[in-house]
Amino acid sequence: MLKSALASLAFAASVFCATAAQDLPNSPKSGQVTLKWLGTAGWEISDGSTIILIDPYLSRINGPRPPGAGSAGTPLPGDTRKLYGWDDAAAPDDAAIDAHIQRANFILVTHTHYDHVLDVPHIALKTHATVVGTESTENVLRAYRVPEEQLITVRGGEDYEFGVFSLKVIPSIHSALDHKHYYSSAKAPEGMKAPLTFRQISPEGGTLGYLLRFHRHQILAFGGMNYVEREMQGLKPDVVLVGAAGSRKEIYDYSGRLMRALQFPPLVLPTHWDNFFVPYGGSQRPAIDAVQAFVREVHAASPKTKVIVPEYFEAILLEPAEK
Ligand SMILES: [Zn+2]
Ligand SMILES: [Zn+2]
Repeated sequence: MLKSALASLAFAASVFCATAAQDLPNSPKSGQVTLKWLGTAGWEISDGSTIILIDPYLSRINGPRPPGAGSAGTPLPGDTRKLYGWDDAAAPDDAAIDAHIQRANFILVTHTHYDHVLDVPHIALKTHATVVGTESTENVLRAYRVPEEQLITVRGGEDYEFGVFSLKVIPSIHSALDHKHYYSSAKAPEGMKAPLTFRQISPEGGTLGYLLRFHRHQILAFGGMNYVEREMQGLKPDVVLVGAAGSRKEIYDYSGRLMRALQFPPLVLPTHWDNFFVPYGGSQRPAIDAVQAFVREVHAASPKTKVIVPEYFEAILLEPAEK
């Protein structure tokens, strides 16, 4: 009864937050995909068996500030943690990682900046997950002696079959930081040896997006506030993780062009919108207020799109997609 009623509902009913889904009989259903935001551009996507991480960054250290970080980059009042500089050793917070990540099968890395890659060597060594990323990213992992069998190097354009899911690697571009003055063609070289400095693990190395096809869902993930519009052509994801921090405003009609190019996706989850210098549990009030403008942009361009502003580690359950 409940099942058939649910089946007849439009997409709005096909996404449940954890509390709603727990009320359903026999949940979790097989093939049910759950997304959890880890903060920054980090996500865990799982069907209860296979766990795919994207840009997992749990350390949230008081790290060196990127160019044009603005007010989000100023040290937090009362923050007594060590402030790292670019030439300090890039040490992740292993305890923070271990508190949240027990298992992973795949780690997808969008680019080699420390808020995307700092935690990946530890997670890869601990979980033996396969790491998909650019040559730059894989060179960082090699420096930490992550076995070569775990590394899959991509450049964008690949469309790989992994059995339980497939992965289309989308050529992309980095956020236009520092009012469009950010640009980097640098990549992490071969032959580095850990411990690496923040400077060594942060040379971008090119930026990728990922389209995961997983239990009839198509989940498109970005790790920042930009995209190549022509690379969106023909994609029709039902879930899109869209970079939503302020640097999106450097981009012409950022949300509108994206919604139209992706044929008005049913669900958008803003990503990389929080202040990642603030530890878990600290106030994200300015970021939460700021992200509302992104929600309005999406709704203006695509009124039927549901936007869920995620909370850290909250399970967002996708009902099995229609066959
Ligand atoms: Zn970056
Ligand atoms: Zn970033």
